[in-house]
Amino acid sequence: MPRTIIVSNRLPVKVLKDKEGELSYVPSEGGLATGLSSIYKSGNNLWVGWPGRYFTNKEKKKEAKEALEKQNMAPVFLSQEEIKLYYEGFSNETLWPTFHYFNQYALYKKSYWQAYEQVNQKFCDEILKVIEPGDKVWVHDYQLMLVPKMIRDIHPDVSIGFFLHIPFPSFEVFRLLPWRRQLLDGVLGADLVGFHTYDDMRHFLSAVSRVCYISNQHGQILKDRRSVATDSFPIGIDYDKYAQQAAHPETLSREVQYRTSLGNQKLILSIDRLDYSKGIPARLQIFDIFLEKYPEYIGKVSLLMVVVPSRDKVGKYKDLKEEVDLLVGRINGKYGTVNWTPIHYFYRSFPLEDLSAFYRMADVAMVTPMRDGMNLVCKEYLASKLDQKGVLILSEMAGASKELSDALIVNPNDKHQVVKAIYRALTMPEDEQVRHTAIMQKTLKKFNIHHWVDLFMSKLDEVAKKRNELATKVFDKKVEEKMVSKYTAAANRMLFLDYDGTLVPFHSDPMAVNPDEELLSIITRLSSNPKNRVVIISGRDRGTLEKWLGHLPVDFIGEHGVWLKDKDGDWNMAEGLDNRWKAEIKKILDIYVNKTPGSFIEVKDYSLVWHYRKVETGLGELRAREIISHLKYLSVNMNLQVLEGNKVVEIKNIEVNKGKAALKWLQKNKPDFILSLGDDWTDEDTFKALPDKAFTVKVGGIHSAAKYSVEDYKDVRQLLTALIES
Ligand code: UDP
Repeated sequence: MPRTIIVSNRLPVKVLKDKEGELSYVPSEGGLATGLSSIYKSGNNLWVGWPGRYFTNKEKKKEAKEALEKQNMAPVFLSQEEIKLYYEGFSNETLWPTFHYFNQYALYKKSYWQAYEQVNQKFCDEILKVIEPGDKVWVHDYQLMLVPKMIRDIHPDVSIGFFLHIPFPSFEVFRLLPWRRQLLDGVLGADLVGFHTYDDMRHFLSAVSRVCYISNQHGQILKDRRSVATDSFPIGIDYDKYAQQAAHPETLSREVQYRTSLGNQKLILSIDRLDYSKGIPARLQIFDIFLEKYPEYIGKVSLLMVVVPSRDKVGKYKDLKEEVDLLVGRINGKYGTVNWTPIHYFYRSFPLEDLSAFYRMADVAMVTPMRDGMNLVCKEYLASKLDQKGVLILSEMAGASKELSDALIVNPNDKHQVVKAIYRALTMPEDEQVRHTAIMQKTLKKFNIHHWVDLFMSKLDEVAKKRNELATKVFDKKVEEKMVSKYTAAANRMLFLDYDGTLVPFHSDPMAVNPDEELLSIITRLSSNPKNRVVIISGRDRGTLEKWLGHLPVDFIGEHGVWLKDKDGDWNMAEGLDNRWKAEIKKILDIYVNKTPGSFIEVKDYSLVWHYRKVETGLGELRAREIISHLKYLSVNMNLQVLEGNKVVEIKNIEVNKGKAALKWLQKNKPDFILSLGDDWTDEDTFKALPDKAFTVKVGGIHSAAKYSVEDYKDVRQLLTALIES
């Protein structure tokens, strides 16, 4: 049975060692572990990860490995040095700050990068020990961005998903990384790449387009003849667990206990791991400003601040800890009285019973990170509000803000806005609180952690299914043999060959791709065979076609079907065409040329083409959309069609298309072998028009009406050479 392999930096278990050296294994209570437990614990599925301890004793290591294997876990043992360089180093001092827009904190060290590569390889090796064709792998997070490609290189056919649990930054920040290309290539080894929000996804797509020069169609990226899907899957919490915990007698008794010692004042709750991305100092300053601006709240409201120790070996975190300690001390010193403490500050973690009591007690939760992939604290707070009374102040920089629009959404850098939000939260009527909480609870209940796992896994299955369908399209050796045997058996063959992007590559100057020697030789040899009829079917004007290939015995369909020529005849124009519209449309295109450096218009007899290959990435696409929408109604009235090609927008008569022209050729010649090769939109008309027996081949893409696909013009030349040599 195919298995599913989960891969993450940490295994969902803590390995403890007592004084006698006995090992014990405590399962992690985190949301991810809960969500994925239904997967990795069943059948022969597996979770691969670091067990969170160093093992120097060989016996103990073996013992731990065996014990973990019994629980469907495969440990990747790492040395202290590896953790220092790969985890604390590259992951947390390079990627983490960069991805959270703190690039000024990022260290670019070669030793970190090398360790990151090596450890990613170690994870991959562990997976390779067990993986088989048909298996599924789900790789998690920024520590393992190279793993998808490493697996893909060895197992082209397994399904690989990757999920990034932290933000993906804007390209302008991502580009700063010296290893940006390798990181993207690594992730693109997956079939499905998931993010918390659509914004993260579009930043990723933009980085892929600018760094790897690969564009996308509705989030689908075509990489090495594979399709990589991207999507947003906002992670949820184990909603019922938090709701049930909030009703638990232990929680209630702790709430009573804390209430008694705190008194009746209002409570604002703040819970985070110690991290500069969480905006803890700013939150303290905001509380200070609040007390200054609304002195009537002095003695009436306290901030309960929990900071969970984290990454204390990383220098920046030590500095942050000192800053927080100092600020808390200063504010408590400034406002505190004998019977009131402004900030109750805890630098430690709490068990769930306490957290749940805090969530219940808090009138307001202040979740104001500078940047956060998702943030779960705000979701847990809402799930714990059984009476739905309470207000959430939420930073727009947290992924959660995209789902929780009923919170008081703030920009954490706008301190006065947040101060006002605190005031609004403390004075919000209860019915309004209930209304907002109810809406958000409904969302969180549905989009819980189990839903998240199901969504991702079913999308991964769907993508794999599509991949298998598409794989049948690849023009491989078997198809080639079939084509060659049909070709040799046929007496009357017709070959429709598109020119640009099919026989030659694209160039920023369209006139620079005149046929080279190899191409001329291929076409000469094909067309001199009396059984063959070679038809160059192109969008090019007849002058260029004549100049480049007119000396060979080939037929032409030029300007997408406006101009037609038999090998021994003259150029003829398709009947009933009108080109009086050109002057008016050209005036419109001129406006776009004037405001778009690098673009130009190609004027053909019966069509106009706006080219943008040399225009800044993104701007060209934007202008193309503007032109298309500008011409939308006009073109219908003038009987024109507006087509998007490879970095071009073409406007031509509605009657003209390559498919119609190709049909004319078939009617005249009745071939018993048909081959059609093309790369563009306009070639789709040919593919659709040809009879089922035709070999239709799409160049450089897989989403097409063609039966088969090849990668580029080099494959095309190889394929044609196979016919010649048959
Ligand atoms: N948390 C905890 N003990 C504590 C404080 C917090 O286990 O004393 C948990 C909290 O319940 C939440 C997680 O830590 O599930 C923090 O997740 P979040 O996404 O908010 O931030 P992260 O630390 O992942 O950046």
